Amino acid sequence: MRRSYVLVALCAVAVGCAVSTQQEVQMGQQYSTQLNSTLPIVTDPAVQAYVNQLGNSMAKLTGRADLDWKFFVVNTEVVNAFALPGGYIYVNRGVIERADKMDELAGVIGHEIGHVVKRHSLKQMQQQQGANVGIALTCVLTHVCDSDASQAAIQLGGAAVFAKFSRQDEKDADEEGFKNVIRAGISPKGLASFFQKLMAEEKGGGSPVDAWFSDHPLTQDRIADIQKLIDAKDPAILRTLAEDNGAFHEFKDRVHALPPGPKPKTP
Ligand SMILES: [Zn+2]
Repeated sequence: MRRSYVLVALCAVAVGCAVSTQQEVQMGQQYSTQLNSTLPIVTDPAVQAYVNQLGNSMAKLTGRADLDWKFFVVNTEVVNAFALPGGYIYVNRGVIERADKMDELAGVIGHEIGHVVKRHSLKQMQQQQGANVGIALTCVLTHVCDSDASQAAIQLGGAAVFAKFSRQDEKDADEEGFKNVIRAGISPKGLASFFQKLMAEEKGGGSPVDAWFSDHPLTQDRIADIQKLIDAKDPAILRTLAEDNGAFHEFKDRVHALPPGPKPKTP
């Protein structure tokens, strides 16, 4: 269990050390097991089934269809989503509650899939190795800081645990997300409209959307870039892509009816 962390720690120090897919998957799997034991993961089978079906409809059409993609819903109002190396994607309840249409949730998940396809999540974890991931690992191995680790993890996803993606990584993940939704027959408009909504909510400051901004730097330029991609797409094709459906709203109602998650720690 410890071997791949050590390997990655060494890789973080060595320049240009290549991590194989097998090592990447092993690392994601171990970290996912750790997170799943600390985070308030939603276990409702219908909720799990829907998010996995939507996620896989996109992930299985990417260049990394070979990964065993897994999608989780985290019961926290904090607005965030994040990806672990190897194809483990987490979407917080706060994102689902804010998505008005299926294509908005698909856009967020498509963006996270993009981080894995581009191996940003691997890079992010390598960069973080010396700091918080190291601390989290120590907690797991020693069990002395279980409650602190879970509090930090609840801050999800969580600015406390994950390094910020670079602006370039975000732009790349948006472009991947755009392609991912279209390949699966879903409209890319939701990607732009959801981000626009987050921008509007962030203006107040001190809001539940802050976590999103700390992990995935979001700017008006980025939204404009996504809009350009949409505008360049043949309108006849755009019209054939799904924006919404009943299954999404059944899923959303089910998530909305869940008991509230643990309160995030105030900074
Ligand atoms: Zn991102």
